[in-house]
Amino acid sequence: MSSTTLDTTETPRLPDGPRGLLIDGTFVDAADGATMPVHDPATGEVMTHVAVAGPEDVDRAVRAARRAFAEGPWRSFSPSARGKILWRVADLIEQHADELALIESLDNGKPLAEARGDHGFAAEVFRYYAGAATKIDGRTVTPSAPGAWHAYTRREPLGVVGQIIPWNFPLMMASWKLAPALAAGNTVLLKPAEQTPLSALRLAELFAEAGLPDGVLNVLNGLGRVTGAAIAAHDGVDKVAFTGSTETGRAIIDAAKGNLKKVSLELGGKSPNVVFSDADLEAATAGAAGAIFAHMGEVCIAGSRLYVQSDVFDDVVSGVAEKARSLRIGAGTHPDTQLGPLVSDDQLRRVTGYIDDGVQGGGRVLTGGVRHGDRGYFVEPTVMVDVEADARVVREEIFGPVLVARSFDDPADLAREANDSPYGLAAGVWTKDLSKAHRAAAELQAGMVFVNTYGAIDAALPFGGYKQSGWGRELGPDALDLYTQTKTVVIAL
Ligand code: NAP
Ligand code: MG
Repeated sequence: MSSTTLDTTETPRLPDGPRGLLIDGTFVDAADGATMPVHDPATGEVMTHVAVAGPEDVDRAVRAARRAFAEGPWRSFSPSARGKILWRVADLIEQHADELALIESLDNGKPLAEARGDHGFAAEVFRYYAGAATKIDGRTVTPSAPGAWHAYTRREPLGVVGQIIPWNFPLMMASWKLAPALAAGNTVLLKPAEQTPLSALRLAELFAEAGLPDGVLNVLNGLGRVTGAAIAAHDGVDKVAFTGSTETGRAIIDAAKGNLKKVSLELGGKSPNVVFSDADLEAATAGAAGAIFAHMGEVCIAGSRLYVQSDVFDDVVSGVAEKARSLRIGAGTHPDTQLGPLVSDDQLRRVTGYIDDGVQGGGRVLTGGVRHGDRGYFVEPTVMVDVEADARVVREEIFGPVLVARSFDDPADLAREANDSPYGLAAGVWTKDLSKAHRAAAELQAGMVFVNTYGAIDAALPFGGYKQSGWGRELGPDALDLYTQTKTVVIAL
């Protein structure tokens, strides 16, 4: 067995906070009274219950959001006034950093330090779009048709936006969705993942404290197949933005067909991380480990396929396995934890199922490979070699701390194999040769390529996928395109 186990017996108390649905500025019970349990993934115990929004609640929230968009004070907010609210939310997130990190760590399982990092980034995202709110400009255009004209474009909000987010970065994913949508003047229905509703509910309170009018943000906890499906299908919703699995992304597209609402998708990945033999091998080894073991590998851009040039393969891969063995496993709330539990029992079964499948297909486990302990949803950080290119562990998103490593000789073969995936979210390249780095960056079919680093994201940098990894780009100025539409105005002079 690898890795130290930290004592998980002393669980800190879950901070108080809202457990209802936020509709039109008030936390309420579901119309049918439905609730669901929220588990601590370190112990499997039920911490609290939250309301579950049914179709009737979704309908009420849509009406509230429509009213807030069309009639409420939100319409009269200047761009600067919208920006000020987002900036205040960023400040409030920082003021409540310890409380929010504890909520997130108990709800999702991730180490407190990682939760703090996520939330620091969320605050930066709110600040980026606070500044962007005053820069959503149209253009003046000079038409060539005969006559005298004044023509210009306006960028207007879409209206009521449904946002459905996953459990891996609960508050951070909320920030990526809410900040650009609100900066542009939309109103929102936010559905957190069923496993992790708590930080979004607390964030909603912080929005109220920051001065957001009632009905502009509605938070609908619930089940994907009920609440999420009702949002995606609702005729009163003008746009749905989704982050999660590619399979659910397809269901969202189907549901959105009725009123042809706009759709943006940030989906899964199986991202290649490529180490050339001329790389700084120490940095590459640490980078490869971080790319798959941070946040328990429950990361859409996780560097889950490691390709190492054959003359340094053994060194790099055994170095990554060594790092895996050294990780301290424990409850996310334990201050020394480096690897927390997976988010749920389902996820634990899914991840260990993939490992077993890889082993049955001839894969050799260098380290890890099994559940860790018998309480909570821990799995050992795992490195697997001798896997065939067409094995499920190589092709499918596992969403856990499981790395598959393959060697290559010829960079041309490498590019072909790295790109042989339905996904195209991210890729990593490690080399000291500048030309090689640029060539690989151009060849890899991925929305983001990281060179001599992995997973470096920033509020100003567009984030999204090629191929079946998504539609559209979040973050940066690009995200404003997801939440605005262009109107052309032509005046005959
Ligand atoms: P998921 O089904 O894609 O869930 C993401 C969000 O969509 C959740 O809020 C979910 O609600 C909601 N949802 C589910 N079915 C829906 C539907 N028919 N209509 C509208 N919304 C719906 O992901 P998951 O089931 O939690 O995880 C399964 C796998 O997806 C993971 O193992 C991983 O491979 C992948 N995943 C990827 C990402 C990513 O960032 N790319 C994030 C999460 C998961 P519920 O919470 O109630 O299901
Ligand atoms: Mg699901």
